[in-house]
Amino acid sequence: MDLKQYITIVEDWPKPGIKFKDITTLMDNGEAYKYATDQIVEYALEKKIDLVVGPEARGFIIGCPVAYSLGVGFAPVRKEGKLPRETVKVNYGLEYGKDVLTIHKDAIKPGQRVLITDDLLATGGTIDATIQLVEELGGVVAGIAFLIELTYLDGRKKIDNYDILTLMQY
Ligand code: IMP
Repeated sequence: MDLKQYITIVEDWPKPGIKFKDITTLMDNGEAYKYATDQIVEYALEKKIDLVVGPEARGFIIGCPVAYSLGVGFAPVRKEGKLPRETVKVNYGLEYGKDVLTIHKDAIKPGQRVLITDDLLATGGTIDATIQLVEELGGVVAGIAFLIELTYLDGRKKIDNYDILTLMQY
């Protein structure tokens, strides 16, 4: 299936000059959403995944159906102040380190094989921060899956020690 036909490119959103890749038109289509999910499940089965981890909010949309299909858990990574119990946190964001991501301290058992999911790989900052959280808790990042990779931003360079699946490239 050609998944790109279900992605809507929104010009000049959220800022002039940005061509935003809107995945909601893919999710709207049951066949396309299932096909994309199944591709990631197939990949995850090879990697013998124990747990799926994804950053808010679109990482949940990709990761939760994969976790359900595998019969494993899903642990959310969220912005600071959103998770109710003890967390570990990481600062990220390009120049100023102003963004913070957190995960519950007991979300991962040491040695668990983790699949990280998100909708889109741009500069790699979000996923790099998510990797740091998983590894701080002793998880093994066994694979990382995205719907979309923006190859011209070279985000892959930041995470090139890891196994990566991307279903569409722009
Ligand atoms: P990065 O941290 O620079 O790799 O940016 C990736 C994050 O930004 C992901 O969590 C995406 O949800 C979001 N993002 C950046 N550009 C787009 C886009 O064109 N469509 C959807 N999400 C985007």
